[in-house]
Amino acid sequence: MFTFCPSCASKKIAFDDINVFRCPDCGFVYYHNTAAATGCLIYVPDTERLVFMVRGNEPGAGKLDLPGGFVDPGEGVLEGLYRELREEIGWTPPGADLPQVFTLFASFPNVYPYKGINYNTCDLFFTVSAPGLKPEDLHLEKSEIAAVRFLKPEEINYDDIAFESIKRAVRAFVHRRS
Ligand SMILES: [Zn+2]
Repeated sequence: MFTFCPSCASKKIAFDDINVFRCPDCGFVYYHNTAAATGCLIYVPDTERLVFMVRGNEPGAGKLDLPGGFVDPGEGVLEGLYRELREEIGWTPPGADLPQVFTLFASFPNVYPYKGINYNTCDLFFTVSAPGLKPEDLHLEKSEIAAVRFLKPEEINYDDIAFESIKRAVRAFVHRRS
């Protein structure tokens, strides 16, 4: 990621292959730490469908994703998830008490490659029940989301899912319900 030390421009900057860059010449240290990210398993009980988005952009353009995303600096995980739902699909679950609205379901690591840099994330997956929710209730962020798909478990093709962490979360969710 760094060819030169950002502090002294030394070429001796070294990466430990996990998360730390160190410059032996000036002592510069940078921790490329894991970032927190969220994913929301929105389940429509009356039609037995899970809500997926089709990604509009790389990485994984055209593939299935769950609503959610990176937690911003200064944000809690639930606030970040609520904001992402509002931004991406224009829908938020009813109720203002976020810990009651969202139930933590699972957590898996992921790697999110973006413009030549791999971001390691710790993805937290939450479940929300959305009785009566229909595709026309959602208002998509057109710059990022190509479409939504409401899929029954048997309609999910795991090869179409953009990220490993999301495959694992969806598999676990479907397995638990069957
Ligand atoms: Zn340096």
